[in-house]
Amino acid sequence: MMKSIASSKYLACLVGSIILNLLFIINIHVGGQWKLSWSLGAAIEAETVAAIYCSGHGRAYLDGLVVGNKPVCDCNTCFTGPDCSHFIPHCTANADGLESVEELLRDLSMHSYSGDPLFLEPFWMQHLASSALVVAGWHQMSYTYGGKSFFSKELAKVVRKVHASVGNAVTQNRFIIFGAGSTQVLSAAVFALSPENTSSPAKVVTSVPYYPLDKQQTQYFSSQKFKYEGDAYRWKNRSDCSSTNMIEIVTSPNNPDGQLKKPIFHGPNVKTIYDHAYYWPHFTPIPAPSDEDVMVFTLSKLTGHAGTRLGWAVIKDETVFNRMMIHMQMNSMGVSKDAQLRAFKLLNAVLEEGTGIFDFAYQTMKSRWERLVQTVSLSNRFSLQENNPQYCTFYNKVRQLSPAYAWLKCEREEDKDCYAVLEAANIIGRQGNLFGAEDGYVRLSLVRTQDDFDILIERLHKLITEEDGDKTM
Ligand code: PMP
Repeated sequence: MMKSIASSKYLACLVGSIILNLLFIINIHVGGQWKLSWSLGAAIEAETVAAIYCSGHGRAYLDGLVVGNKPVCDCNTCFTGPDCSHFIPHCTANADGLESVEELLRDLSMHSYSGDPLFLEPFWMQHLASSALVVAGWHQMSYTYGGKSFFSKELAKVVRKVHASVGNAVTQNRFIIFGAGSTQVLSAAVFALSPENTSSPAKVVTSVPYYPLDKQQTQYFSSQKFKYEGDAYRWKNRSDCSSTNMIEIVTSPNNPDGQLKKPIFHGPNVKTIYDHAYYWPHFTPIPAPSDEDVMVFTLSKLTGHAGTRLGWAVIKDETVFNRMMIHMQMNSMGVSKDAQLRAFKLLNAVLEEGTGIFDFAYQTMKSRWERLVQTVSLSNRFSLQENNPQYCTFYNKVRQLSPAYAWLKCEREEDKDCYAVLEAANIIGRQGNLFGAEDGYVRLSLVRTQDDFDILIERLHKLITEEDGDKTM
């Protein structure tokens, strides 16, 4: 008797629970649609801020400029006013980047940040739904994934898929490690490739013109294990190098000149780090998938999300990978899981769009380069880097570079300080000496907003046509 009462109570409970669950499911599914509950407020908040009108010359952000608790427009350079519709006529064309410590300090005081690849912003404005993300308060709070790794296996999978779809890197049977931007990954690689117990530190070299942060970062972290030794060409053919541990950072395509750089050093005591930040169809033909020992990439130049701070390395050797893991543990106890989640969402959106982001980026950069070439070709005073066509396996055609930067040379003997020549014309570039080159060169960033690029071309055009006027006078 007792047993049958217990079992009928159990049955009633089970039926009750099934009914409750059914009611819950019916409640949250309306006409096959998931009825939002806790995410609704966040979605409304996000869409409200996104809808703030900034005339196409700025954006409002929840965590950006706020006036009296309300987000307001953060305007592009040379634009101002509540909706960024007011153009500042004589403002300076900013074609600089954001990499050096000096510049960072200068920028912090000038409130003028941006060497960012904001040229990709319009792409994401057209792909709002596939790239938006909602994060619950309880999401991935732990340091690790499943108590084991600092790095998301799912993110590594999608990274491999993106490389496979582009054909720019071999990732099968390779290790993948993430970092806070490729900046941290590059530093981890230098640590990992340095000798463990040695009285003579490894010589870290880069060939001129080099990416300034490699020098600055290596000098800053220099230790008993490694030391920055400047231009790689300076050490070539030196007999004392044949027995020294060398680490060469090869930035390919190169920042500043966009060339697919090759290493200067080879041999058993040489370790090479390939910085492939720009090895995407946006900026260069892809002649073949890169298959190097240590290859470094970054979300910054692929999707334009520099602020997410997510970079990665594809590594052949397990020991090197393990040593980079130790560096990540010591240096920052892993990498932001929020950044990994955002990268996961964005890279999936990239895959969903097929060749979409690459077509957009290539077309934008190509048309910017063509406008620049056209403008500079009106003058004998300036010249640009070489741009030899190569076969691109991604587009199955011969194509030129569509570089992220112009490496502009002032050709006149008297224009030794090319930066000053441009500055006088209201154009801010980056001095050649920062790249280990002469000051007859200036780097101009071509990856910024369309506004920045348009103003750059207008100022250059004015400088060049006035120069013609001078000549005829
Ligand atoms: N490598 C190169 C060649 C770069 O130009 C940059 C950014 N300017 C980086 C690395 C660093 O990028 P991030 O740390 O944003 O990944």
